[in-house]
Amino acid sequence: MLSAIMEDYLKAIYYLQDETDERVRTSTFAEHMDVEQPSVTSMVKKLAERDFVHYEPYKGVVLTDTGIPIALEIIRHHRLLERYLTERLEYDWAEVHDEADRLEHHISSQFADRIAEQLGNPAVDPHGDPIPTADLDVSPPQSGETLADQQVGEKVRIERVPDHDPDLLRYLSEHGITPTTVVEIVETTSFGMVTLDPDGTDERVALPEEVARIITTQTLTGASN
Ligand SMILES: [Zn+2]
Repeated sequence: MLSAIMEDYLKAIYYLQDETDERVRTSTFAEHMDVEQPSVTSMVKKLAERDFVHYEPYKGVVLTDTGIPIALEIIRHHRLLERYLTERLEYDWAEVHDEADRLEHHISSQFADRIAEQLGNPAVDPHGDPIPTADLDVSPPQSGETLADQQVGEKVRIERVPDHDPDLLRYLSEHGITPTTVVEIVETTSFGMVTLDPDGTDERVALPEEVARIITTQTLTGASN
């Protein structure tokens, strides 16, 4: 059995190595997890002893073929729980991440499969993140583009929003922005503000660049403009 902390480490390494496409430095990791570097190093060594990660001092850490499926299983639990909580237990999408972070370590893969079945095997969680299948396949994001990459006049569909900031999530949903919403870019400024006109609302919403840069988008196929 793995402890919840070990599982959290494997999950975090998975995310970070996905972002950088290379070994994760323990310093990067310490910053991301908000823990001291010596405790990161000692945990990473324990995970390496059990063959979940490869670790080389000064080079960093990467998941092994044993570690990857464990990380993906936890991510599957997390995202299915988020979906279940919003869809069946009427949680607000801003509240589900923390709840799922706690519960993800305590359900079996059979329980996760039952949730998936109940929900009709959803492909994405409420934030638009892909849910790994029971075989632990995970679909890559469609375009890799974000709101910050768009030109004025462009219309795009919101794909994924970051799941961990409740204030941001509340702000976005109050302004009509959730995954699958179609938005038109109405203004961008030299200091980074991006103003959007979401379909189905009468108001416009301005986002700072650091937010626009972490909201991914899909290009509309068959759009007339
Ligand atoms: Zn989450």
